[in-house]
Amino acid sequence: MQKVTDNVYVESEISVCNTSVVVTKEGVVVIDTPMVPANAKKVAADIAKFGPVRYVINSEPHTDHIAGNCYFGGLVVTHDGTRNALLKAKPEDITGMLQMMAPDSLPLDKEFRFRPSDITFSERLALYLGDHSFHLIHMPGHTPYSLAVYVPEERIVFTSDNINLGMPVFRDALPDKWLETLTQLEELDVDKVVPGHGEVTDKSCFSQMSKNVRGWIDAVADAIDKGMNLEEAIEEVPKAEMFADMPKEGPAAGFLRMNIERIYRYLKK
Ligand SMILES: [Zn+2]
Repeated sequence: MQKVTDNVYVESEISVCNTSVVVTKEGVVVIDTPMVPANAKKVAADIAKFGPVRYVINSEPHTDHIAGNCYFGGLVVTHDGTRNALLKAKPEDITGMLQMMAPDSLPLDKEFRFRPSDITFSERLALYLGDHSFHLIHMPGHTPYSLAVYVPEERIVFTSDNINLGMPVFRDALPDKWLETLTQLEELDVDKVVPGHGEVTDKSCFSQMSKNVRGWIDAVADAIDKGMNLEEAIEEVPKAEMFADMPKEGPAAGFLRMNIERIYRYLKK
């Protein structure tokens, strides 16, 4: 695990999303859990050396952030909407992805289950542990139920996939709320930013991400203004300059189409 501040460590290599740990005097808080069972067990064992797990926070309802919960102790804390997703999720929901990423992990072991939240909230929740405070703030955008975890004592925020320095994923996104969330993130007094995936960064990522999300929305809005239907938009929008470097085939091209479709339907509503 990479040490990020005095008491924060982040695992980005074997967890599909970033799994983070904040070490306090009274135990540790884990943010997001690895999807591959063997990796979740390994990370749980690594974390044990910092102390007992008191809370596990899931920053969003997507399976790559929640599936490893059952391998960790402590109480699971999420947005209300993420608890609903955990209750509905079935092991079959991850077997397809595991087949591609980690076929050795199938069949899933008997311990595996989608472990639901013990504590939920809708707008804000503060947890206090040792000398640390954890401010969980509902920040819809990448999903309707995404949250940020702000830990002022470490001058750090964990943003979920609202920050993703690769391609933003709009599958369940609320595009206009995403822009509001990025403005809200700008106001936090932090030095370090831990995105949902990829390298730990700093505040400069907020304006960069806003520009990116805004670019996607504007490109689709432009197609709508020109009177294009969804099929035409899916055909034409990728020709915009901002998408010039994106592959036109393979999984990335699939995400590109999915994003355009989601934004198109959202803006049309
Ligand atoms: Zn996600």
